Amino acid sequence: MGSDFDVIVVGGGLSGIRAARDLGDAGHSVLVLEARDRLGGRAWTRPFAGREELVEIGGTWVAPEVHPHVADEIARYDLELVVSHGGDLDSRWHFGGELKRHFPLEGDDIYALERTLFQIIRASHRVDPDRPRDEQDLADLDVSVERFLDDLGTPAAVREFIYMWAGLGSGALPGEWSMLTALSLIAAMDNSVWGWYGAVTDRFVIGMSAVVDLLARDSGARIELSAPVSRVEQDDEGVRVTTAAGATYRAPAVVIATPLAVWPDIEFSPALPEDKMEPARAGNPGRMKKTWMVVENLPPNLFASGWGTDFVQMFPELERPDGAIAMGMCAPPSELDVSDLDALTRAVRQFAPEADVVAADAHDFAADPYAKGTWLVNPPGMLSAHHSALGRPEGRIVFAGADVAVRWIGWLDGALEAGARAAEQARAVLGGALPVG
Ligand SMILES: Cc1cc2nc3c(=O)[nH]c(=O)nc-3n(C[C@H](O)[C@H](O)[C@H](O)COP(=O)(O)OP(=O)(O)OC[C@H]3O[C@@H](n4cnc5c(N)ncnc54)[C@H](O)[C@@H]3O)c2cc1C
Repeated sequence: MGSDFDVIVVGGGLSGIRAARDLGDAGHSVLVLEARDRLGGRAWTRPFAGREELVEIGGTWVAPEVHPHVADEIARYDLELVVSHGGDLDSRWHFGGELKRHFPLEGDDIYALERTLFQIIRASHRVDPDRPRDEQDLADLDVSVERFLDDLGTPAAVREFIYMWAGLGSGALPGEWSMLTALSLIAAMDNSVWGWYGAVTDRFVIGMSAVVDLLARDSGARIELSAPVSRVEQDDEGVRVTTAAGATYRAPAVVIATPLAVWPDIEFSPALPEDKMEPARAGNPGRMKKTWMVVENLPPNLFASGWGTDFVQMFPELERPDGAIAMGMCAPPSELDVSDLDALTRAVRQFAPEADVVAADAHDFAADPYAKGTWLVNPPGMLSAHHSALGRPEGRIVFAGADVAVRWIGWLDGALEAGARAAEQARAVLGGALPVG
């Protein structure tokens, strides 16, 4: 099989572009095939509908003190960060159907919260976030968040509080995602529950799309947009990649950098093994509706958290003469229609009774065929059985993506981590170091 490029990268999100950049650094020719008409995937900065302000539609917040790969990119490109929310916050909580201006738990429930958090932190110490979870003895923790709290006998008020935090961390119901994913992130955050919830507050001044563009430019790669890949065939000679439009490209090594939930939509020959396909078919229950709104009469330092509300978290990000530009995270079980301004006003009024929503903008990543979910949270039973299989090369095909990361699973740092690893693995294939077939 003749080759057009040293490596073909399928998927131009942050992870695929990181792989392309590292391969470019090492002197390799790279082709990136991206399904959408833009790079960045689940990281996407664009103007708020019909206005000039740019907003982050997808991945945004980083904490370089715990995100080593993000810190490397900040250093390489001299990137500036800005804090989204902080300082003297007007914290409001909505639990049990009631709006509160003070910490929502009282009396014995505070002791119960302390005991629950102690158990969670203790369990997080069992997780080594730098090793695949199936290589550790963690199956007993790979149960749903709901089941983990059931087993602890967590009282109702504390459960609601933790469900708010888990809803914000996942965009999924507490019965749908694994406590082992949550514990892995807490472990990665130096075993801090608070850190995971409250310490990731910085965003890139230039926006995530511009960050992706910097890496893309540095890669020297040829980039084909609107080129969804439909088939990937490998043999002893190399890999042939075919797009939905019928274009065919060949290379000795291929990086698959699409979301995990999208793998079943690509025809692989030979087929991917079952320990990859089972988690891919299980997919991503994360379906957070990250919603941007222009809101009149919103308290400027509002920091709202709730459970049983439409938004699990909401805060203003920018002040404008016609109102605040605010972000709300709408997690299930809410079925809020985020295009309905009256429904959004009712949702915001759960925290700020005088507010009025006058414009809104969001993207449905769960319905998007090239994402099939927001950030990955693993369903119960997947990580303890299949984690190492997700990032394992299959002959000449290697895998990138935040979804197959080891440390920051589902996060921007994980996308960079897995992209760097895939570039190394692709280089090993080019060097003939990996067994093929
Ligand atoms: C709403 C939202 C909020 C988030 N907030 C944060 C946050 O604050 N902090 C944080 O760290 N992380 C956050 N994340 C997660 C983070 O954005 C992602 O984990 C990360 O961007 C994933 O990068 P990736 O390259 O692995 O995947 P993706 O960005 O999904 O890139 C995969 C690429 O593959 C392409 N593709 C798919 N199918 C095909 C095909 N058949 N052929 C060719 N190309 C294909 C897609 O179009 C896409 O460009 C958030 C995500 C979302 C959606």
